[in-house]
Amino acid sequence: MSTTAEETKAGFEKEISTIFEDQLAVSRQLRKSTVKDRIRKLKKLEKQILHFQEEIKQALYRDFQKPAEETEISETWVVLAEIRHTCKNLKKWLRPQKVDTPLPLLGSTSEVIFEPKGRTLIISPWNYPFNLALGPLVSAVAAGNTCIIKPSEFTPSTNVVIKEIISRVFDKAEVAVIEGEVPETQYLLSLPFDHIFFTGSPAVGKIVMEAAAKNLTGVTLELGGKSPTIIHKDAKIKDSAEKIVFGKFLNAGQTCVAPDYLLVHKDIKNELIEALKRTIKEKFHSDDPETTPYCNIINQKNGERIKDIFQDAVDKGAKVISGGNFSNNDITISPTLLDSVSEDMRIMGEEIFGPLLPIIEYDDLKNAAEIINSKPKPLALYYFGNTSKDQKFIIQSCQSGTTAINDCVIQFTNTEIPFGGIGNSGFGNGHGYWGVRAFSHERPILKQNTIFPSSSLLHPPYNSFKRFVSKMLVKYF
Ligand code: NAD
Repeated sequence: MSTTAEETKAGFEKEISTIFEDQLAVSRQLRKSTVKDRIRKLKKLEKQILHFQEEIKQALYRDFQKPAEETEISETWVVLAEIRHTCKNLKKWLRPQKVDTPLPLLGSTSEVIFEPKGRTLIISPWNYPFNLALGPLVSAVAAGNTCIIKPSEFTPSTNVVIKEIISRVFDKAEVAVIEGEVPETQYLLSLPFDHIFFTGSPAVGKIVMEAAAKNLTGVTLELGGKSPTIIHKDAKIKDSAEKIVFGKFLNAGQTCVAPDYLLVHKDIKNELIEALKRTIKEKFHSDDPETTPYCNIINQKNGERIKDIFQDAVDKGAKVISGGNFSNNDITISPTLLDSVSEDMRIMGEEIFGPLLPIIEYDDLKNAAEIINSKPKPLALYYFGNTSKDQKFIIQSCQSGTTAINDCVIQFTNTEIPFGGIGNSGFGNGHGYWGVRAFSHERPILKQNTIFPSSSLLHPPYNSFKRFVSKMLVKYF
């Protein structure tokens, strides 16, 4: 007898609500866990990830033919680096902060403690399925929370490995993995979690925030967008081309911080195009999509979406100067450069999230800034050029979640800096100290040490002396 839709729904709702209930008791115990306890768990997680290295690579290859080397540098290592950095610094990050006491509160002392938020939910996307599910988990565990991870439904093989690793380190009542599509995610979103850490598209980010508002649950939204890359006339051409080709075609362009479009100064445009073409040939051996050592598009639907964006640009006059080959039901797309691109094309209106790189020429840095500012605030902004004044001009003229000067994408891997968007590319931060902060409540505790504190002068009845005190407060404090 086949299961009806209602029975399936009742089944996953029961499973999820049981885990959620069980996590309540555990989250209360975890409030008392020590830094040592949490580090012990993170080390156990590190050990299991190292143990499953080969399976992780094979799973990502099965999911979208991601090359093993790319999995190592952009999935496994990134999570391991997060664990190691967190274990090394957690004691310092969670140390209560003693603060000064203002004169009107004389007699009291205050401190800020960092306590776990409680039950947390991580929703992750398919494009870095291992990294973006487990990276935030490191911060959630370090901060002392329970967690449910909802990975993307488009990476089933990776999800199997994630589930196996998690089950070897945690009981479900502490960390559980729930697979599923929109109905499962919407049910999860209806529950009163204490924090939701979402990584994905701005469109789904809005759905998450709306659902979280019903429970007044705090959210971190790590979203996407069009990350501009400026190559100014004094940039080092060969060096810029190499870094851009790496950052753009890693993961076949399916990277939230990949350069989305290039803004190139007219004086160096031809030279840069030649350098980009040469670098693509060197790195990917040939234009033949069958032999390029880089991964596929996640599924045919996304491949067709990218092809439509490409076709729209070509139909409106864009010139293909490298690549442009689609094969294997459009899930294998060669690294593609497009010139003569204009703002009325879809390629300049939406996040590309694939290996198409449009090139736009500018003659004045002010015009480049205007193009960037005509679009929603991006997750990343890249500037290639060597004059500090120009670098400063761009940083001050255009907002972005993150920025790199004379490089791209690798800012994601520096655990010492926050990673997050602004406006349409999200809010809140992840990584290292900032990730642990996202999963912690900064709780101020004021302790009164005397029965005659200076603050008692604020209590009624207000005699002439107290009136004098309140006047002094208004005037001087
Ligand atoms: P997505 O928003 O479609 O999906 C992300 C997650 O949300 C998945 O787990 C999915 O199952 C769930 N989801 C999808 N539709 C939903 C709905 N209607 N209701 C509830 N949940 C839903 O994103 P994606 O396609 O998996 O990933 C690509 C996007 O993610 C791009 O925009 C990219 O820029 C962004 N991204 C951002 C970062 C970052 O760190 N800022 C990193 C990677 C990807």
